[in-house]
Amino acid sequence: MLKFTPILLAILYALAMYHFSAWRTRKELDARSTELADPALKKLTDRMAAALDLARIRVHIYEIDPVNGLAAPDGRIFITRGFYRKYRNGEVSAEEMASVIAHELGHVALGHSRRRMIDFSGQNALRTALGMVLSRFLPGIGVWIAGALTSLLAARLSRSDEYEADAYAAALLTKAGIGVEAQISLFHKLDALTAKRAGAAPAWLMSHPKTADRVAALEKLEGRWRS
Ligand SMILES: [Zn+2]
Repeated sequence: MLKFTPILLAILYALAMYHFSAWRTRKELDARSTELADPALKKLTDRMAAALDLARIRVHIYEIDPVNGLAAPDGRIFITRGFYRKYRNGEVSAEEMASVIAHELGHVALGHSRRRMIDFSGQNALRTALGMVLSRFLPGIGVWIAGALTSLLAARLSRSDEYEADAYAAALLTKAGIGVEAQISLFHKLDALTAKRAGAAPAWLMSHPKTADRVAALEKLEGRWRS
């Protein structure tokens, strides 16, 4: 029994972390967000809602500057104030904004946002438990190896989530008659923004795989649907 105590403690710790971070995220989002009311965007989200047989798609504005979109663990979709500003300035089109909303909807529909939260606290537990076990055999570097292994696993998981959310968005945008082009053109725009101001990559791109790979995956889908 004593042998398993560290692992049991790590699991308990992970559960507590999960509840705490879910609660903290919800509180932060509640305090700093409002529902988006934009007639031009609503026209597009209504078309997506019709394609999904939903009454409407609710989108919220999260009052922070970094260009980002996110799907909360409770299923709400957020666009940051910074992203919305780019749209209001005319730097990003309504169709391109719709493609971000569609991508975040994909994360919700495919259960990524809830799982990601579990992933995050699960990662801490795995790192702790693995570190304890490895340290017995490899004192000093066991913890380091455990950390590297856990990060590698997490990166692989989140990469596949992004491709899945992109594919979901592409299908939804196609069905709603908005098209995949906006999705691809937004990737290029955000990429150009990164190139112009080195080190100022939009948060939305940083947490995602390489743009070129994502565009290639979308073009492959588009080609398959066309033929
Ligand atoms: Zn994503």
